[in-house]
This record gives sequence, structure tokens and C-alpha cells, in this order.
Amino acid sequence: MEAVYKVDGLKKLFPVTRGFVSSLLGKELYVHAVNDISFTIHKGEVFGFVGESGCGKTTTGRCLVRLEDPTSGKMYFEGEDTSTLKGKALKEFRRNVQMIFQDPYESLNPRLSVFQTIAEPLIIHKVGDTHEERVDMVCKALEYAELKPPEEFLQRFPHELSGGQRQRVAIARTLVLRPKFIVADEPVSMLDVSIRAGIMNLMLNLREEYHIPIMFISHDVAVTRYMSHRIAVMYLGEIVELTDSETLITDSLHPYTQALMSAVPIPDPAAKHGRIKILGELPSPINLPTGCTFHPRCLYKKGICSKVIPALREVEKGHFVHCHFAGEIRPKMVEEGEVEERYCEFCKGKIWKDMITKTCDCPKYYHENCASELGKCPICGKQL
Ligand code: SF4
Repeated sequence: MEAVYKVDGLKKLFPVTRGFVSSLLGKELYVHAVNDISFTIHKGEVFGFVGESGCGKTTTGRCLVRLEDPTSGKMYFEGEDTSTLKGKALKEFRRNVQMIFQDPYESLNPRLSVFQTIAEPLIIHKVGDTHEERVDMVCKALEYAELKPPEEFLQRFPHELSGGQRQRVAIARTLVLRPKFIVADEPVSMLDVSIRAGIMNLMLNLREEYHIPIMFISHDVAVTRYMSHRIAVMYLGEIVELTDSETLITDSLHPYTQALMSAVPIPDPAAKHGRIKILGELPSPINLPTGCTFHPRCLYKKGICSKVIPALREVEKGHFVHCHFAGEIRPKMVEEGEVEERYCEFCKGKIWKDMITKTCDCPKYYHENCASELGKCPICGKQL
């Protein structure tokens, strides 16, 4: 398959603003929004990005359309490196890539009519010679976005449109320049459920009819699966798993993805749906954990996990996983209420049902990797 966008080792750090004195004394701090990720988007493909808020998926999308400058790494659009484009070359690139934003209430200027909103990129990029030509282009874009008849919408303002109509106007503005690549950042998350299906079907039509490659960003696994050919799961700025959407749902291999999948509701009250737990809270993206960034929350961690960063390995054909033990981990379903109320004496973290533990003569309990770090129980001295 022909590659449209190839990303290689992309990093985006945001400096943390601190007080004058502390910045003189201490070293600079950074939020690691995107942390060394690589992937390729192919022609005609919808490439999904899922993960919880703050995992870096939107920053990745903004880097791809160059709304953000990457800190390091390369991004090749149709073979040309876009990470360092400037001036005229950057303007020409932006004509070919467009972004649909999450909030149609914020992304449209309330002072511009629908015509002015959609014609603005035509004027900026000097597309169309006459006013009539631009009216024609705007009407066609409105028809693509299924706002019919288009003439009825031209002079309306955003406050005269419903949420779904506003997002369709935003999509029409994206399409008017006939882009070669679109980043759709949570395009349905702000809409009512009843309107979502219409916008999703419109985007699927774009995929089927115009074969425009789309990067589809969402925190909703079910929506992303419906829309995408392949999905990358992000956690703390890294891609932890990347494969086709069906494999991700039925045979995910990373513990974080497995937990994410087990949280997707099944619309069947009789369905038995065990939850896979993960431990604790999301760590700060300023002080990333050492080794595997998921290790403080992982039920399967071993000694190596906190020391060595795992590679994004191709475990099966086209199935990449960022875990030392990918393929060896069997998900542990934990039903609500079945959790054992037991805590590790060393790290004070919870010991979940079926976790491998070590015990001593006290008796105290330890996670397997905590026990191997300690060597022996500090209270009774028994070898763990
Ligand atoms: Fe868990 Fe270790 Fe795999 Fe990270 S590398 S996901 S800590 S088992």
C-alpha cells in the first residue's frame, strides 16, 4: 500500500513555565506530550488514534498538520519532510492537509456567515478567480457535507445552525480545498448521540468515495473501531499497540489495551463482561516513569519493566506491541467485588486477585517484582 504520511521518531515537549528564581536554580521541566512515536498512514486509509485524555493524540494530529512544530523527529508527507517547512512551502503544504476540530461551537467564527467561513481558505490560497466561481465551490462543498440545498445555508450564521449542521459546515470548510489528508480530532464527541451517526456516515462516505486518508482521533474505542482500518493506542505520549481494528478488539496484547477494551460497554444485559483492572492513576507526563511508562499501573510487571524501555515489536504480522512480554500475557478478568483487600508491604500498592505474590513468616505480602527488589522481608528477614 502506498504511504501518504510517514512519521519517524516524532517528539513534542512543552516547557513548563516556572518562577524566575526556581528556573535559575533548577533544570528546565518539560511535559512529554508525544514521546518518540513512528507510524505510517496509507492512501485511502482511516487511521484511528485512541487513548485517554492527555495521552498526546491531539498533539500528534496538530504536529501532522503543522499547527505545532515537532521538537524532534521526521514527518514525510508524500515523501517530503514537513517537520522543517517554512514560509511559502508551509503554506502550500497546509493547502493539502486540513483539520476538523472537536468543538463546532468554538471552531466557527460567530461573525462570519457560512459562505464567508468556507470561502476564507479559498481566498487565503487564491483558489478561484471570480466571486461566482467561489460561490460555486462553496455550494459543492456544502453538498458534499450534505447540507442541501446549499443556497439556503450560505447567508446563515453559526448561531442559526444546530450542532450537527455546524460540524457539517466545518467539514465543508475542510473539503473545499480538496485536501489530500485530513486530521479529524474527536469530530463527534461534542455532538448528541442522534447527530453522531449522521456525521460518522458522512465521514465514511468521504472514505469510500474520495479515498482521502484520515487520521481519526477519539477517546471512544467503539466509534474508532467503526471508522478505522487500523488503530494505534496511545498511553503517556507513546504508541503502546498498533494493529487493524478487528484484531485490536478481539486479540489485543498490551495490558493497557486489554483494560481499555474490557471497559467498552456491551449492549446486552445478559452478557458476562469481566473488567480488567489497572492500578492507580495516570503518572505525570512531566516526570515519566523509568523503563516501561505503564509499569506503575501494570498487573504483569516484572523486574525488567521498571528498568528497560520496551521496543514497539511486531509480534504478529502488522501487529505491533510496546511490551517486553507481549504475546505471553493472558488477561486477568477481575469482576467487581472480587478484589482481594491486600496490599504490598513494600510499595503499598494493591494486590489484585490472581497476581503472583511472595509472602514471609510475618506473614506479609509482596508483589513478585517488589519481593525480588527487596530480597528478604525487612521485618522477619525471611528470603522472599
Ligand atoms: Fe506491563 Fe512490563 Fe509489559 Fe510494561 S513491559 S506493559 S510493565 S508487562
